[in-house]
Formats: sequence, C-alpha cells, structure tokens
Amino acid sequence: MNDIKLLKTTSKRYDILSQMNIKTLEDLIHHYPYRYEIIEEKYPTDEDEHMIIEATVISPIKIFFKGRMSRMTFEVEDRYLQHFQVTIFNRHFLRQYLKLDTTITIIGKCHNHRITASDIKIKTLNELAGIYPVYSLKEGINQKSFRQYVQKALRLLKGQIVDDIPEKYIMQHRLIHKENALYCIHFPENKKDIQEALKYLKYEEFLQFQLTMQLTKQQRVQTMGIEKKLDVMKLQDFILSLPFSLTADQQTSIKEIVTDLMSPRMMYRFLQGDVGSGKTVVSSVALYANYLAGYQGALMAPTEILATQHYKTLNAFFENTDVCVELLTGSLSAKEKERVYERIESGQADIIVGTHALFQKKVQYHNLGLVITDEQHRFGVMQRKALKNKGHQVDFLIMSATPIPRTLAISMYGDMDVSTIKTMPQGRLPVVTKYIQSSSMKPILKELKNYLAHGGQCYVICPLVEDSEHLEAKSASQIATAMQAYFKTQYHVGLLHGQMKDEEKEKVMNGFFNNTIQILVSTTVVEVGVDVKNANMMVIYNAERFGMSQLHQLRGRIGRGKEQAYCYLMSSSKAPEAIERLKYMEKSHDGFEISLYDLKLRGPGEVLGQRQSGLPTFLIADIMKDFPVLSIARKDAEEIVSDYIEKNEYFGLIGRIQDKLKENNEYID
Ligand code: ADP
Ligand code: MG
Repeated sequence: MNDIKLLKTTSKRYDILSQMNIKTLEDLIHHYPYRYEIIEEKYPTDEDEHMIIEATVISPIKIFFKGRMSRMTFEVEDRYLQHFQVTIFNRHFLRQYLKLDTTITIIGKCHNHRITASDIKIKTLNELAGIYPVYSLKEGINQKSFRQYVQKALRLLKGQIVDDIPEKYIMQHRLIHKENALYCIHFPENKKDIQEALKYLKYEEFLQFQLTMQLTKQQRVQTMGIEKKLDVMKLQDFILSLPFSLTADQQTSIKEIVTDLMSPRMMYRFLQGDVGSGKTVVSSVALYANYLAGYQGALMAPTEILATQHYKTLNAFFENTDVCVELLTGSLSAKEKERVYERIESGQADIIVGTHALFQKKVQYHNLGLVITDEQHRFGVMQRKALKNKGHQVDFLIMSATPIPRTLAISMYGDMDVSTIKTMPQGRLPVVTKYIQSSSMKPILKELKNYLAHGGQCYVICPLVEDSEHLEAKSASQIATAMQAYFKTQYHVGLLHGQMKDEEKEKVMNGFFNNTIQILVSTTVVEVGVDVKNANMMVIYNAERFGMSQLHQLRGRIGRGKEQAYCYLMSSSKAPEAIERLKYMEKSHDGFEISLYDLKLRGPGEVLGQRQSGLPTFLIADIMKDFPVLSIARKDAEEIVSDYIEKNEYFGLIGRIQDKLKENNEYID
C-alpha cells in the first residue's frame, strides 16, 4: 500500500519525485511544505505593505510592450467604492479575462491608490480564500499537482499511519494524532491547524532523535571497556609538576576523565572549552593517566602544524617523566616513518601525536588504550572509527573549541558525556577587538608599526574564498608581497597557505615561533591551536566572510599570555547584518555566547560541522528555535528507555529505532 506507483502518474513524474528522494507514499507525506500562502482580504495599514483585495474592473485595459516584456494597467473599484489604478508586469495573457465588470482578486502592494500587483486571480476572494501549502519542488512538478499527489497519498494511507509517539505522551502533551497532524500540515484550514501539526511533528522528530541517542549510549554503556588501574598519587605529582596550577574547570574535567578511565565502561567524552581555556593540558593529564595504567595513547590533530605543536607541548610537560612521545605526520620521510612505526608497534612509544597518518593501515599499535581527537568537527565518524579500531575497547575523548551551553551540548551530543571548561586561566586580558570599516590596512598602519617597533609579532589573516584554496593562496601571496615591499628589510614577512608543501609551512611556522619572522600573512591554516605568545596583534581581512565562531577561534591565537592583545576586523561590507555581527565581536569575548549567536544565525550544521552519523536530520524542527521542545523530548526519551529496560514496555518503538541504528553505529566495534 506504500507503493508510489499508486499515484498513477507518468514515469517522468516518478523520476522527478525520485530525484527529490520521494520513493514511497510515506516519503511523499513526509515532504512538508516550507511555507504557506494565506489568501484572505488584507487592506494595507501602512504604505507599501502587502495587500489582497477583491475589486471590479471599471476601465479598458492598456498594454505597453518593450521587447518580450509587458506592462498592463487598468482601473478597479473595491467594495468600499474606492478606485485604484492597477499595474502588473508580464501578464498580458490575462487581458482576455479582464473584461469590464469582472470581479477579480488582486495581490500586491499599494501606494497612493496605485497598486503594483504581483498576481491577479480571475476569481472572487471568497472562492480563493484559504491557506495554501508551498513545497520546495524540482522543475517539472508544480505546486498544484504536488498537492494533489499528497492528497491522494493521504487517502491511500488512511488508517495505516501509526503514531511513533507513545499514547501516554500524546495525552500528556495534548497532541493530536499523527494522521491528523499530517492532514493539518498539508491541508490546514486555519492557523491553529498548522500550529497543532507543528507541535506534533517537531516533538516527534526530537523524540526520535533523543531515543536514538539514548539507545546508542545505552549500548555503549553495556559494552564493557577496560578497567584501568593507575597510581593516583603519581598522577597528582605530575599535575603538581606542571608550570601552572590548574583552573577549577580543568580539575573537574580531569576528575571526570580519570573516573571514566578507571571505570569498567568505555569512555566516550566530549571536552569543550573556549579557545585558550587550556584543553591541551587536560588532554596531556588524560594521556599520562592512561600511560600510568600501562596503555599507549594517541592524540590526533587536524593539521600538521597543530600536531607538531602538540608534540612540542607534550614533550615539555613530560620532560621529567619516562614518557616517550612520538610524532607521526605525512611529511616524515619514509625512513623516519618506518622508525616511528616500529617504535609504536614495539611499545617503545608511549604517546603518539599526529594527523590522519595515525590511522593508516601500516600503523600497528601496542596496547592502545586512549584516543583523543582535537577539534572534533574536522574528523568524520569513519576516521574516528578507524583510529578506535586500532585498539580494543579504547577510551575516547573528543575536544572541541566551539563550545556551546551545557544544556544544548547534552541535547545535541546526548550519546556522549560532556565536560566543559568555562573559566579562563587567571590573568588573561580579553583581546581588544576593533571593527575597521576599510578594505585596506591604511587606517591601522600606525598602530601596527608602533606595535612592531616594540618587538611584537603580528598575524595577518587573508580573505576566505569559498571552495578555492587557489584564490586564497593568491590573495595571501599578494598581501605578503605588498607588506614585504612596504617594510623593506626592517621586518620579515612570512607566508602561509594551504597550497604550500608541508616542509615549507613548517619552516615558516618555525620562523614565526623563533621571531625571525615578525609578520605572518596566512589563510585560515592558523585557525586552530597555534600558540605563539609574543604575537599579540592580528589583522583579519574581509572579516564579514568568516563565521563568528571562526573569528573567535582566530582571535584566540593572540592574547595567550599576560600581554594586552589587539584584533582588527577589517570589512568594507555595507550589509547591516555583517556590520552587526562584527560589532558584536567587539563586545563579546565569551566563546559560549558567540557560538550561540552564530548558531541562531547560521544553524548547527554550519557552525559545529556535520556529525555525519546515522542520526536523524531535522526536517521541520529547529534546534535553536525549538530548544524547549528538545529538552522535553530528552526527558521523555530517558523515561521511555528506562521503562523499556525495567518494565519491558515500548517494544515496537524501540525495535524500530534499533533497526535504524544497526545501519550506522560508531561505537560498536
Ligand atoms: P586550548 O587548546 O583550550 O585553546 P591551550 O591548552 O592551548 O588552550 O592553552 C592556552 C594557553 O594557556 C597555553 O599557553 C597554556 O600553556 C596556558 N594554560 C593552560 N592552562 C593554564 C592554567 N591553568 N594557568 C595558566 N596558563 C594555562
Ligand atoms: Mg587547542
């Protein structure tokens, strides 16, 4: 009964539907309208407002042609005896219907009794009035025929549409039933119908999502991991040996992680904190704890620069211990790689830091016990899985520098445990951020020169070019050349972009570390992690092209010591939203606030990256706008899963979700 062929339409239409991912009647009825057109009488209360009126034609039609374009004008009278002059473009084919005394409905805008119509219907308002769903469609199917298909599908599926929301929760939240909700979303009679339908469908979507997460977590919790045993005193000594004392949030996170490592369950923890909040130290303590328990650990970074830096940082932290850290990246020579592989396999290497090279086939670990990935969203599920599968029931820690409020994190990453670092290390000064309305460096040249004269170093971030590393590289080179020409031999300008060879990048980065380079012109390759304490000025070109979380990440490269840092956001954009966003960056220094603002503007996919897992995507609900519903769905899902486990209830519902889960599960080896 779910066969799409029951629509009895043409094969061409089936093809188009199939391109829209509509392959069954079920798919069809779940293709929701993205908006509604409401047709009811509407007189404008303000000039230039949208209007819909019924009126009668009272003059002959005049048409002016210009090439294939046309402009048609005529006069009408409405039911209050008011006269209007109507103009409509490119609809001259309507002329034959617009006879004197015909009653029509006019949709458009009105100014001084002159109407510019966007549409004219040769029907009375009474005949037309109603709410019309508008679908996103592919060419070849129009709104009207799609509506007919949906209507037919709903008729064919009548009585077979079951609720995936248990009756208890339908009652509790006073929801309508699914079949009714589908009718109401496609063919509402009034606004209340739409509200009721949305209430049901959003809750349903979130409940499915939360159930999926909870069941995944359940499965993971039931999978036994390794109960790591370690000398906690030794760990304490290590923490005390660090060059600074840890913040309260760092300590809490460490406690949570170590407890996980020592528990018989597999750790799957999400560690989030603002840029510069000190996640690296936390990861090094975790790696040390894992080492003390007798296991190998791996830390994976998204770029070579970052991996190299982590390697150096860890080496410094572990200086007075027996821990042996190795670096594994793509740019090592074949011979060096062989050496590292051997040390990993033999167990001489205790901690391995690297890039994607870490999970290549050739790498054989010796008792891998902990995997940490830095900057979560750059790795896909498959990559994480590949690395995890290098060991047996490995504990897993994912670090993210795009922090979100805890409640949101728990709802979105509900299958993981979440640790959050909110407080910054003591003595940090917020980066003074200035939005400069300019496309060149002129307005800030004086500040820059003054700053360099006092021995500082500066980052210059080049415009982001969507999908073109080549253009990005080009603009970076041009800026670097121009700056070097300007400063002559006084300062050295370095260039860093994605099209350079790894060794070249490494050389430039080292030059910047050692201060043989004072100005680093770069594309966003420096976005993550890089830590040069003497660099406390940053200039960002075309700042409006970056997401706010990304700007915050970039800005986090400076002001990592005790010195006051300055960030200039250059933009010549006149777009009010762009200006508003950049002004917001001047005011806010809280990565949590910024990511929230950004999430509202651009949505979770853009900001946090796609998780690429088998989790449902939301057709109708919006994580940000409908957050309260998500929270309620989470609570209900917890209750449902626990009733399932303890009282054997909800078998059908849970079974359907488990079937879907089997297809893609990143936790089960
Ligand atoms: P994140 O990776 O979270 O952006 P890092 O771990 O790179 O941050 O830490 C940023 C800087 O702050 C580093 O130079 C680090 O040594 C320093 N740092 C970390 N924790 C502390 C602390 N508790 N007190 C003082 N400095 C710290
Ligand atoms: Mg970091």
